[in-house]
Amino acid sequence: MKILVLNCGSSSLKYQLIDSETENVLAKGLCERIGVDGRLKHEVPGMDKMTFDLDFPNHTPAIQAVIDALTNAEYGVIKEIGEIDAVGHRVAHGGEKFTKSAIITEEVLDAIKECIELAPLHNPANIAGIEVCEQLMPGVPQVAVFDTAFHQTMPEKAYLYAIPYKYYEKYGIRKYGFHGTSHKYVAQECANLMDMPIEELKIITCHLGNGASICAVRNGISIDTSMGFTPLDGIAMGTRSGSIDPSVPLFLMRKEGLSIDEVDNILNKQSGVLGLSGVSSDFRDIENAEAEGNSRATVALETFAYRVAKTIGEYVATMKGVDAIVFTAGLGENSGPTRQVVCDYLRYLGIRLDSYKNSLRGQAMEITTKQSRVQVFVIPTNEELMIARDTKDLVLAK
Ligand code: ADP
Repeated sequence: MKILVLNCGSSSLKYQLIDSETENVLAKGLCERIGVDGRLKHEVPGMDKMTFDLDFPNHTPAIQAVIDALTNAEYGVIKEIGEIDAVGHRVAHGGEKFTKSAIITEEVLDAIKECIELAPLHNPANIAGIEVCEQLMPGVPQVAVFDTAFHQTMPEKAYLYAIPYKYYEKYGIRKYGFHGTSHKYVAQECANLMDMPIEELKIITCHLGNGASICAVRNGISIDTSMGFTPLDGIAMGTRSGSIDPSVPLFLMRKEGLSIDEVDNILNKQSGVLGLSGVSSDFRDIENAEAEGNSRATVALETFAYRVAKTIGEYVATMKGVDAIVFTAGLGENSGPTRQVVCDYLRYLGIRLDSYKNSLRGQAMEITTKQSRVQVFVIPTNEELMIARDTKDLVLAK
């Protein structure tokens, strides 16, 4: 089965065409600057990367351009659009309605629309992607894979906030958690590497990228995670503050006369390691600045690692133990120094990093020594593959 995986953002769109039998990526790419002008970056294994300047006033010409690239006589990988057997969409928010992926029907689409209020920036773009595919590929099954679904197993005590209960009932204000597809994927891969059934394991997965979240996976299900009602909560991130005293925005609004949107912008776009370091949101820039003696860069990196370690500690407590810890995503997969600092905090758990293995990159592997009482892994995440797998399973079960 050839499955087109789409991740539609408001101004960009990532795609992969995956052969679900071999799980090989046949082609992948990115449409950027949708609504501005338009650029398509297209990659086919074994060929040079291609870039095309196009006109993308909205998502329709962008998805059409993806289909044109995939079916192009010279650099395409399929002959015609009819070879696409199914489309899998990453959908940001499924609220409490979706506990797993779903074949898109009219009712499912309506339910995704009802969640717009919870993800006003993301769900509309996801919906646009679904509707354009319905137009361009009528009759081809489409599946929605939700970032929130994996965390719907959290117990009430983990997802409720201690605010008047009526706000949960009225507006659905609770912890939802995000990056679910990634946490689920790396937890399963971890169990595979350990050669143990996931149902018998306590795993803490750390998705550390520009956005970052940590998840407690007990017996294969999410029982707690660090992101909350929105992806702003939890550990400090590239530009997001993570958890702070809820009075801080109120204080800032009073002191500086800031509007709601201004505070929203500060907490989402100007905070995190960017705000702390004043250097960049990219950890590579901050690590370079630290090497040059920038003390605020050091504070930013230390704060980040401290918050990661602290959250892992919380989840060890809530799961009453831990068998394995997984690092994934841009920073988790690539920054040995960050993993080292986090694991130094966790020596009390009997964790012993193998510094040579911790310096390697690019493959799924254990990075602890044989003596380590808890195994630590680096596992590259692959959300697109998870989306393709769910899509295949649901389409075959139809
Ligand atoms: P997202 O998908 O959330 O945009 P990624 O998972 O791609 O983010 O992670 C991007 C981040 O990973 C970058 O901002 C950068 O800080 C970090 N990163 C990537 N490679 C390295 C590296 N070699 N060393 C340190 N940090 C890295």
